[in-house]
Amino acid sequence: MIYNGIDLNFVCRDYLSSLQLLCLCEGLKPLIRLNAYVDQLELYKNFCQQNSLSYYISAYKIIDKDGRIGFSSKKDWTFQESAQGYHYIYLAKDPTLLKSDLDNISDRDFGKLLGYPECCLDAYDCNVNQVRMNKIDFTALTIESSDPASFYVNTLIRYFRYALIQHFPCSVECADSLKMGEQVYTLLQEKYPQIANQFRNQLTCFAIHLGETEIYYANDFTESVSPYGKRIKFSTIKYIQKNELYKDLMEFKEVEIISPRIIKIGDKVVTGEYLRTIIYK
Ligand SMILES: [Zn+2]
Repeated sequence: MIYNGIDLNFVCRDYLSSLQLLCLCEGLKPLIRLNAYVDQLELYKNFCQQNSLSYYISAYKIIDKDGRIGFSSKKDWTFQESAQGYHYIYLAKDPTLLKSDLDNISDRDFGKLLGYPECCLDAYDCNVNQVRMNKIDFTALTIESSDPASFYVNTLIRYFRYALIQHFPCSVECADSLKMGEQVYTLLQEKYPQIANQFRNQLTCFAIHLGETEIYYANDFTESVSPYGKRIKFSTIKYIQKNELYKDLMEFKEVEIISPRIIKIGDKVVTGEYLRTIIYK
């Protein structure tokens, strides 16, 4: 992703962060927050200087305790001088946005600064305790029907480094979130069509959620009608951790969806309070 002669991936080191930086530069986002290791700080500072951006670097460093960089729900703080961890770097075109006390800001106020829809901020406040207590993904609470959702709002596979929006939509039908996802995708298509295709190919998927570390998805899937509901066949499945369900999925390479919360793999019926299945198209 070359932008004004600079490779965004060289600065950011992953496509999701590069995409956010692109959205900021192109006016789709007012403010972004990225993770920056000490050796990246100079790269970000240079990028800001060349693209008329302002920045603020957190006064502390962050350590992801479960090793899932950037998406971890188990974060810890450490001193700047520590050899471990990364900083948050906040970037904006408008320097006044960086005047709030960003190191101590509430989730809600920060969400507003980032331009997230009000309805989604309400849903976040409402669901945050349930999500943390049950070690599930926010996205699971927004999946209620078997109807396909748009890939614009696929936030379930962001652990695999693919997402167009950075917030959790209040529902897969949230109009503001769909619009944001579409705008980001359109921008990506205009600037980097190959990467846009790569995002679309990954985000268009059949996904299963059982918990925050139990998310599976398949891109090459087919749907058909089964005696119980819907049958999904696939040749391979992507995973965060290999466990019992992964083994079953790879043994049968098909799932019958009885409802979004009940599935059948072979003769085994799998259910759970937070089991969800969804097709993103
Ligand atoms: Zn919403």
